[in-house]
Amino acid sequence: MGPGESTVGASAWATLQAEIERCVRCPLHATRQRVVVYRGSASPLVLFVGEAPGAAEDAAGRPFVGRAGQRLDRAVAALGLSAAEYGMLNLIKCRPPANRYSPIAAARCRPFLDRQLELLRPPIVVPLGRHALRAFDPSAPPISQAAGRPRRVGGTTLFPLIHPAAVRSHATRERWEHDLERFGRWLAARRWTRRPSQRI
Ligand code: SF4
Repeated sequence: MGPGESTVGASAWATLQAEIERCVRCPLHATRQRVVVYRGSASPLVLFVGEAPGAAEDAAGRPFVGRAGQRLDRAVAALGLSAAEYGMLNLIKCRPPANRYSPIAAARCRPFLDRQLELLRPPIVVPLGRHALRAFDPSAPPISQAAGRPRRVGGTTLFPLIHPAAVRSHATRERWEHDLERFGRWLAARRWTRRPSQRI
């Protein structure tokens, strides 16, 4: 069974996944190898949202499997999140050439993201980087200011972080680790209801 707590939810997820995989709504369909939909729990406590697949993800058909994904996996382990407690996806489901963010693709892909959110219903969303943050909070300050602090937007709890692919210098590594520590403390202080789940 896929995301959704019932067979109805699982069926809706399977339908959505099939629809995304055959999508030709924007020009990125012509250059992709694989559509990259989701990896993680059927009912994640924490949903990490990136911008778009890179080369490794395009080849694998799974999000966050490249170098940035390995950094994110280490972060998930450090946060103590179990496999049932997190999921990962991107705003855009197909790789943009040269990894250049495409606002047109993001707009055309947005309905898929909204339907994923409806089915996954994550209590906490972690936008990774400025584009993901703006997708959830168009009036948010720059990611350098917003990262590492929780914010509530229209009934959604966000905890933005800088994108793991942006962690290239000593300074950004320190910032990443600092914000992760804050996230870990904030997460531990909350008593979220853990829902039963399964991997897909
Ligand atoms: S990026 Fe999104 S809208 Fe564009 S082809 Fe892929 S799935 Fe469709």
